[in-house]
Amino acid sequence: MSVKLPCLCLVIPCYNEESVLPITAPLFLEEIKHLIEKKKISDKSRIMFVDDGSSDDTWKIIKKLSQENFHYFGIRQSRNRGHQNAVLAGLMEAKADYDITISIDCDGQDDIRVMDDMVESYLGGNEIVYGVRSSRARDTFFKRFTAESFYHLLDFMGVETVFNHADYRLISGRVLNEFENFKEVNLFLRGLIPLVGFQSDIVYYERQERIAGKSHYPLKKMMALAFDGITSLSIKPIRLIMGLGLLVAGISFLGVIWSVVVFLQGKTVSGWSSTVSILCFLSGVQLICTGVIGEYVGRIYMETKRRPRYIISERTDDREQDADTKN
Ligand code: UDP
Ligand code: MG
Repeated sequence: MSVKLPCLCLVIPCYNEESVLPITAPLFLEEIKHLIEKKKISDKSRIMFVDDGSSDDTWKIIKKLSQENFHYFGIRQSRNRGHQNAVLAGLMEAKADYDITISIDCDGQDDIRVMDDMVESYLGGNEIVYGVRSSRARDTFFKRFTAESFYHLLDFMGVETVFNHADYRLISGRVLNEFENFKEVNLFLRGLIPLVGFQSDIVYYERQERIAGKSHYPLKKMMALAFDGITSLSIKPIRLIMGLGLLVAGISFLGVIWSVVVFLQGKTVSGWSSTVSILCFLSGVQLICTGVIGEYVGRIYMETKRRPRYIISERTDDREQDADTKN
């Protein structure tokens, strides 16, 4: 009797990657074939490219690839929604038909061969396997510094993540079914997935340089992602504000006592500069505090709208036909 092998789907977000895809797509295919040969996964396993509303020839390349080989297929978002939403769209699309998914960037920076260990760990009973970068030696100093500060900041702000884990991970269909109930619009997958629970594991790999093209994650986007992560998973910033408020109030109270004492001693100094600096300081602190609270209110507003988190405009697979053949 033959054992049923798990069916794997790779979920690969692509945004303006025409220079990278032709190089990395065959590498992904090679890995899938290798795992099929080793009888670790079913021969129905496939590679899904999620075009995140690219403006270059990415979608054309995906369509061409899917005509060339059964293992390739693609979906296209109706517009650019960002990496997190692209991964989510792919995972939700794959959920029903596959036993396991592995999300990975399309630029070849994450070691593809580590998938062997991920699948092995899944077969050993783990439902989530996090790919963690053991070394960032190939990243520039700036990227390494900002990326690592990002994880420390998240940690400080009370967001539990796996240090140096980006979105290279294996997730079982069972976990995805539960994850579907996490309906938030402010997406930060690497903070949300651990909240689902289930038995998990970590595999390590060395991060490589991008094969071609350039990063779509400049500092600005990374800060936006950190902000999403913090505000969607923690209320610590509001608590910090409260602490800061108490501290400033305490200092101001001392200031009041000091001014009364000085007044009673009859040494009323002209004190213009000290008054102005205290005023500026306090109004600055107040503005920051209002801003942070405003961010949370804004996010609550976005969540209440319940807008769709992704919209798929095209598929390379004909779904109807697919359904027919399954019946
Ligand atoms: N990406 C995406 N939508 C975006 C930006 C990026 O789908 O709006 C994809 C991109 O094609 C790549 C992955 O997300 O596969 C990671 O992006 P990138 O390599 O530019 O980021 P970095 O590795 O420099 O952090
Ligand atoms: Mg990259």
